[in-house]
Amino acid sequence: MRFDLITIFPEFFAGPFEHGIVRRAREGGLIQVCVQDLREFTKDRHRSVDDRPFGGGEGMVLKPEPLFEAVESLTGTGGGDAASENTRDPSTAIVLMSAAGKLFHQETARRYSQLQRIILICGRYEGVDERVAEHLATEEISIGDFVLSGGELPALLVMDAVTRLIPGALGNEASSQNESFSALSSVSSSRVPVNQSALANSMLLDFPHYTRPADFRGWKVPEILISGNHAEVAKWRRAAALEKTRRNRPDLL
Ligand code: SAH
Repeated sequence: MRFDLITIFPEFFAGPFEHGIVRRAREGGLIQVCVQDLREFTKDRHRSVDDRPFGGGEGMVLKPEPLFEAVESLTGTGGGDAASENTRDPSTAIVLMSAAGKLFHQETARRYSQLQRIILICGRYEGVDERVAEHLATEEISIGDFVLSGGELPALLVMDAVTRLIPGALGNEASSQNESFSALSSVSSSRVPVNQSALANSMLLDFPHYTRPADFRGWKVPEILISGNHAEVAKWRRAAALEKTRRNRPDLL
């Protein structure tokens, strides 16, 4: 899979690909990451990427031309115009990072992990000319209900979530199936049977994990986990996951 990040701050990405799973995936050739400097796609002397908003108001807006040209140079196709929209390659997503976008979920990450290429457009300032969302991007995505100063962190977050779902990226394949936001049905088949049909379409958070020491400052690990009884451990984990989901994310149930 190839990720292209379009940004006015290419240096922003100097460190984040150098660690852990993402680094391993890059080194193993599972993913390729290319950072594109938006200013390379400007044509004027000042290499300007932004301009004042029509209608007045605060701040600056990223101009459409450099963004269209950047994406067109990456895909090798024209982005079309008002008279003829471009036809889309279904194996490529062109994602505009936007606080006003649709929310990014684990399900979104799963869908993206099936693609061959993801182009992530990082906004700045007041945002991006709306024609990018309407006629260039295939999706407009928000990472949560808060406003950040740029799309670079959101793009990294999407990349990380997608990369760890690519087969081979995680050391232990099972770990991307039995974790938070797995459908309850898949959790149950690998752990203990569920007979609460009302929960059939729910998702669970991960169960709590513990490691040594078994007694840390008087706080003890649940005894069942040291019992060696696998069936009982599985039962406890399921109940604990349910309890934690009820407590922290009742909306998932
Ligand atoms: N005026 C905009 C915010 C612009 S913030 C609004 O009120 O919606 C500048 C850039 O940061 C955006 O263009 C977007 O690329 C990025 N950004 C900010 N918050 C984000 C979020 N929650 N999810 C994804 N991208 C975000």
